[in-house]
This record gives sequence, C-alpha cells and structure tokens, in this order.
Amino acid sequence: MWADLAPVGRDGGTGGYRRYAWTSTDALLREWFRGEAEGRGLEVVSDRAGNLWAWHGDPEADGPGLVLGSHLDSVPDGGAFDGPLGIVSAFAALDRVDRSTLRRPVAIACFADEEGARFGVACAGSRLLTGVLDPDRARALTDDDGTTMAEAMAAAGHDPAGVDRDEETLRRIGTFVELHVEQGRALVDQSAPLGVAEAIWPHGRWRLDLLGRADHAGTTRLADRNDPMLALANAVLEARAAAERHGTVATVGKLRVRPNGVNAIPSEVTAWLDARGPLADAVRAVVADVGKAAGVTAVEESWTPSTDFDADLRDRLADVLAAPVLATGAGHDAGILAAAGIPAAMLFVRNPTGVSHSPAEHAETGDCLAGVAALARVIETLA
Ligand SMILES: [Zn+2]
Repeated sequence: MWADLAPVGRDGGTGGYRRYAWTSTDALLREWFRGEAEGRGLEVVSDRAGNLWAWHGDPEADGPGLVLGSHLDSVPDGGAFDGPLGIVSAFAALDRVDRSTLRRPVAIACFADEEGARFGVACAGSRLLTGVLDPDRARALTDDDGTTMAEAMAAAGHDPAGVDRDEETLRRIGTFVELHVEQGRALVDQSAPLGVAEAIWPHGRWRLDLLGRADHAGTTRLADRNDPMLALANAVLEARAAAERHGTVATVGKLRVRPNGVNAIPSEVTAWLDARGPLADAVRAVVADVGKAAGVTAVEESWTPSTDFDADLRDRLADVLAAPVLATGAGHDAGILAAAGIPAAMLFVRNPTGVSHSPAEHAETGDCLAGVAALARVIETLA
C-alpha cells in the first residue's frame, strides 16, 4: 500500500506531498481507497460531505459499527504519514482479523479535506458531516485561484448541493478510532511505540488585516511612510513572546502582501495566526496581545474548544494496548466526531523526528506494525 501511495502528489523539488482536497491528485487517492476496499469485499459509500466509508457488514441492519480510518489529503509539502498511516493501518489490521468472528459491522473511513490546505477550514469533511460547518459557508469558500469549494466538488464528481449534516451516516458510527503518526516527541521521550490520546487542546485561526499606503521604496522618506510590514513584525515577535508568557504555542505561518514588490512599500499585509494551548483563556489572551501589538483586532476564522475523548474508551484502549495517554495540540477528525457526541479515540504511532507537516515526518516500520497490531486488537475488542 505504501508503494502505491508514495508517488501520488509528491513534489519533485521538496520531496513533500501536495494532496489538496477535490483536485486530480485527490481523485487518485480516493480511487486508490476504493480499490483497496473493493479488493477486500468492502462496500464503499460516499456521505453527503464527500467522506468515503468502506463497510464490512451491514450498518443499517446490524449497526452502529466500529469505524477506523483517517484522511489522505496533506498540507503544502506535507509528509507521507499524516493521514495515510491511519488508513493503511486500518486496512492492514482488518486483514489480520478473522472477519467471520465479528459481531458488529466495521468500516474504514477516508475523511475529505482534513488539512484545510486548499479552502482554509481544517476538518471540513467531518465538520460538514456533523453539521458544525454551515454548508452555504463551505460551498462559498475559495482557494487561492478563486475556485469555490462547490465548484471543486462538482468538478470532482461530488454533488455540492447535497452537502449537509448527514444523519444516516452519523447513525451508523458506534465508535470511531483514528490511528495517527505522533506530531511531537512525547512517545520518543517515554520510549513507547504507541500512545492513546487524552484530549485535543483548544485551537483556532485568526486573521490580521494590516493596512498602510503603497509607495516607492527609494524616494519615500522614512518619516513619510505608512508601512504595514512593521506592524506585522511586531505581531510576529509578540506571538512568540505572548505564547511563552501564557504557556501556549502561536504561529504566523501564512502571509499575503500587496503589491508584493521588492521595491514597493506594501499597501496591505494580511497575516494568519494559529494559536493553541491547554487552556482556552490563555489562547485567547495570546490572540488579544498579538492584535494589540499589531494595532488591530484579530478576526477569528475558526475556533475549536478543548475536546476530551471518551474517557471509558480511552482508558480501555490504554489498558488493552498497555499504552501511555497523551494530550495533543493538533486537531483531527476524531476530535470533531468526539465533540459531536460520538465515542471516539485516537492512537498515536511514535515519530522519531517529532516533526510533522513536513517531509521529515517519519515512523519506523516496526512501530507502524505495532500500530497495525493495536488496531487489530481494537477490532477484536470492540467489534
Ligand atoms: Zn492528520
């Protein structure tokens, strides 16, 4: 399965992946998913949001079922493991189980547009499925070329008019378990190949609209300039300082500069701030401090409160798998489902570099196989 996926959406220059939602690359990944599922005799259905579900057994007659899975899309220049490891491991785990002994239906899910790399909203597929993302707002989201999500879905053969909270699909999910490469070094520090998620930190994205006046970089005296890049510099430095003060993390990772010329003072700088931490109030304090440093009010584009995973399920998995319990700063589809009241859990596979959303992200084969064995235990225990 890795060999089949390895070339899809890989950038020759960086070695990273560019697998964006509803593109021709995404279509190849979804086709791969269908092929793997149908080769195993699973029935593949798409929900209203465009997430794919490969079912063993009949979730209508015998459900709700156990669902494993993750996503196949990536951030810009992402790594090979974030997303695909959860889906590949789920297929491999199902191969290890005697399916005739299962009492509950089991599905493998492939969530659409988890990273939000193209349209700016992370976990768009699961948010649409559960109804926390308004369908009209989603359809109108645009990518950098001005293509709307509705147009992109339609071009990929998914009907955007049908996108809405999907009761039928939600009813079928009894339990969701997402395996994911760890996005940090906690498992390295604890010398453990696997961990179980405790909670997802509250997190959000904010936009800073910094306005100035375009002018000539050579002829305009310093005293006469209105340069929004200076406000940006203050904001970036304050993001770091405020995060240290409040015990959070904060990142300015995306910018839009107008007119974006080397010899032009910018007229407008738009910056995006990502902030996360264990406590919501601390995250909000960082955002307020950054806005003050930049002289603007940060515009909230998304906010996800702290998500606690199902405590009974978490403790049961930690016990069965003898794995440590970890908190995470990354959002996931499992968190969206948990917030919607579905019993959900996550397993993390050790990442020796601790790096993710980068080609440096890694997992050793032995640890990946431990993850497969763990998911097979999950199927045997819960289904
Ligand atoms: Zn992921």
